[in-house]
Amino acid sequence: MERVLHFIDGAFVPSEDGRTFDNVNPATGERIGTVAEGGRAEIDKAVRAARRAFRSWSRTTAQERAAILHRIANLIEENLEELALLETRDTGKPLSLAKSLDIPRSAYNFRFFADFVKGLSTETFEMEGVALNYALRRPVGVAGLISPWNLPLFLLTWKVAPCLAAGNTCVIKPAELTPMTATKLAEICKQAGVPDGVVNVVHGFGPDAAGQFLTEHEDVDLISLTGETTTGKAVMRSAASTLKRLSFELGGKNPNIVFADCDFEDAIATTVRSSFVNQGEVCLCGSRIYVERPLYDRFVEALVDRARKLRIGDPLDPQTDVGSLISEEHLQRVDGFVRRAVEQGGRVLTGGKRPEHLARGAFYEPTVIVDVDETCEITRQEVFGPVVTVQPFDTEEEVIRLANDTHYGLSATLWTSNLKRAHRVAGELEAGVIWVNTWFLRDLRTPFGGMKQSGIGREGGVHSFEFFTELKNVCIKL
Ligand code: NAD
Repeated sequence: MERVLHFIDGAFVPSEDGRTFDNVNPATGERIGTVAEGGRAEIDKAVRAARRAFRSWSRTTAQERAAILHRIANLIEENLEELALLETRDTGKPLSLAKSLDIPRSAYNFRFFADFVKGLSTETFEMEGVALNYALRRPVGVAGLISPWNLPLFLLTWKVAPCLAAGNTCVIKPAELTPMTATKLAEICKQAGVPDGVVNVVHGFGPDAAGQFLTEHEDVDLISLTGETTTGKAVMRSAASTLKRLSFELGGKNPNIVFADCDFEDAIATTVRSSFVNQGEVCLCGSRIYVERPLYDRFVEALVDRARKLRIGDPLDPQTDVGSLISEEHLQRVDGFVRRAVEQGGRVLTGGKRPEHLARGAFYEPTVIVDVDETCEITRQEVFGPVVTVQPFDTEEEVIRLANDTHYGLSATLWTSNLKRAHRVAGELEAGVIWVNTWFLRDLRTPFGGMKQSGIGREGGVHSFEFFTELKNVCIKL
């Protein structure tokens, strides 16, 4: 992986003009290799290959595709060690996390959709004595799949698996900061028997580059993007002229609401995880914590104490809880949010700086900020780092208002032992995914996605297939 290439029509190739960019390990700051930088020519070649391959791939049976998807899952599992290491070197995340979460879940994404596609059904309506209507489900065509850097293979496979299961072909544009596991996935697909052209990978940047060219391409039918809300807006604009079908999983500023009647140990332990796992670089992290006033002091004290105990350092060390942020540039962005929060009256109880014992790498201490309100930038903008704010609240109505006072609506978590309140508040919160007394627990059959500016559409189970298939109705006069 010292020289990461595109994968087009079944072959690894450099860019036509030979352009590359550097790949850097954020935990060491070292350049670990080069990545081919794709432009219009590579996107066009990849889209043409995907279109050619669509003719036969779309005519395979669900059983045939499912068998190939299971082989991909087997190969991901067989290559778990290597994939986890590549993911850690690209992202700076703890290797233990890549091994226990990112890579196993990537394999499971393929297994899940392989099994699900075999049970997909459609509707039949009989107009008695007049006509019989039945719907046929068909793949849509060529999909552009654009993925982010925080859970690179996990989130990419969450798109590739249903896309292929449904009979589409694709051009993948991985995040420029994390090109390696997508490239390894291409190799695995070939080994598993995916025909040439069905899966293509073009590396490169977003705006005015490979990402945008993919979204503009007139022969791409679908775009599935996971990324920032601003990126969603840009992609919607560039996809408009060819009226593509869009699925967006975008940013979040998720509330984590703790009522005084919660199971304290459960709430605090899970809150530490939902705040700082993967360095807080998870779209579902609960970055705005609201605690009912009687519990506030105790909760803040415990959160600060546990945040300080998290071991931050070498991602390859199995004892490490918190690795490096994705890049030095991102660290500066995260730190900028913290600095401005302090200028606006916020108090940093722990963190807010680089750890003193680490001389190099984009490491940033888990950070807890209090004395902020809903007018502060830190409670409104997505930081996407190990930074949380904690605010007290007095009433259910107040916390619902605060939680919903955002243009994001990805997820929300609430902690209470009052069943009626749990249902009541869950019903009022404006978020696509709501957890009660848990976090990150997912049944892949359920709808996943954001409300408001956190996304468009839902992924998971049949919802992924609603996006990746067309229904056509056949009406037969009797
Ligand atoms: P990003 O938006 O910067 O980049 C995501 C991808 O989009 C990259 O591959 C990038 O190259 C590409 N891109 C950027 N601009 C583009 C353009 N104009 N046209 C086409 N492609 C373009 O996001 P990121 O920094 O990689 O990831 C972090 C963001 O992703 C956060 O906002 C996070 O909340 C969000 N995210 C959301 C979910 C979810 O499920 N809702 C999951 C993970 C991450």
